[in-house]
Amino acid sequence: MHLNELNLPTTAHGRVNHGPTLVIHGGVGTILRTSFPREEQEQYLEALRTSLRDGFRILESGGTAIDAVEAAVRYMEDSPFFNAGKGAVYTIGGNIELEASIMDGSNHRASACTLLHHIRNPITLARTMLTTKPPVPHVFLGGAQAEAFARDKELEFVEQGYFYTEKRWKQHIEGLEYPPSNSESKGTVYGKSVPRDHDPNPMGTVGAVAVDREGNIATATSTGGRNNKWDGRIGDTPLIGSGTWAENATCGVSGTGNGEFFIRYAVCHDVASRMRYLGESVQEAAATVVEGLRKVEGEGGVVAVDRYGEVAMPFNSPGMYRGYIRADMEPQVFIFGDD
Ligand code: ASP
Repeated sequence: MHLNELNLPTTAHGRVNHGPTLVIHGGVGTILRTSFPREEQEQYLEALRTSLRDGFRILESGGTAIDAVEAAVRYMEDSPFFNAGKGAVYTIGGNIELEASIMDGSNHRASACTLLHHIRNPITLARTMLTTKPPVPHVFLGGAQAEAFARDKELEFVEQGYFYTEKRWKQHIEGLEYPPSNSESKGTVYGKSVPRDHDPNPMGTVGAVAVDREGNIATATSTGGRNNKWDGRIGDTPLIGSGTWAENATCGVSGTGNGEFFIRYAVCHDVASRMRYLGESVQEAAATVVEGLRKVEGEGGVVAVDRYGEVAMPFNSPGMYRGYIRADMEPQVFIFGDD
């Protein structure tokens, strides 16, 4: 059915306006139907649905895009399934090192934090930096200073043990035999040959992009980074323009994938630039950028939404946990490329 048959409100230019919309991802990677038990798939899908409902409840009641993306990401940070917060992967030194960023497309304000060891919800730290008064004079805080700010704001601290999950610890131990490749080569290629259906150093990140009733767009992204990353390595997730972007005039974008490529190709900003300068739709722009990544052997995907609630969710891996929701609709959630 053509969308106009639904009698959705249109803009002055005759475009369909879907109204408040939320799109999320729970990370990209070697996620294969054949090695993924059905019950586990359902657990992931249910977690995605809950994140979408948590965020959309806010949009539905007239709340802001910033509130919605923080809520959606917080839920995924508290879930053991995704590589962020509770479910984060380990560094090569056996530590948990988290990072996150948030951007408000209505005013080009952004905040980011990295090298966090004890913050339960890094996205709430980023959000607090964004909206605290008097304003934090810096966009990006790392390590001890970021945690000191969080303590001052009475955010929740946890011991490193809180982040332990058996699955992530096993991945850490197993992955030690396969040092990550450098950023010039494909993320899933390692010094040793590995089975094609199994990535010993898996990735993952969580992200949310929303447009609210006022047409304001916001994006939030949070991650544990890459399994067995060097301690001190900073990825794309907290880098504004690489792993996160939002501006009302074009779109909001959240990325997941091999962060070194997202940094080198300024992936999320590139999606918005194509819309701004080439007049591409959000779907065209996002698909072209993700295809460009594939050509240079960078693995990843993005979720994006424009001010009319048009959604894009392209990726070049076997799977990406993802979904979206709008008014009068059940959450739409997917895992594999052929879903
Ligand atoms: N982009 C993240 C990083 O490189 C990982 C991911 O999204 O899968 O830290």
